[in-house]
Amino acid sequence: MAVNKTRCEAMVCPPGQWGSFQQHRCTKKAVVILDGKSYCKIHDPEYIKQRDEKRELKRRAKGCQKCYADLRVWWKYCPMCGTRREIK
Ligand SMILES: [Zn+2]
Ligand SMILES: [Zn+2]
Repeated sequence: MAVNKTRCEAMVCPPGQWGSFQQHRCTKKAVVILDGKSYCKIHDPEYIKQRDEKRELKRRAKGCQKCYADLRVWWKYCPMCGTRREIK
């Protein structure tokens, strides 16, 4: 299949308040095909999943170690489960 001639099928919103009203199709070249749809490098669902997982791990590392609640830096205890926070 001529993957390189295909355009990415993801819809993108420009940043800003009115972004969602100006949604348009991604103009980048498709590099992967998943479930019959083509995606460029940054809209590859696998890539997005991995990126989100990394972000989630980072977020969890900063929050409660037990329930993963978001904690303010100055909180010593988790308000959700009461676990004392381990400051590293
Ligand atoms: Zn794209
Ligand atoms: Zn907690």
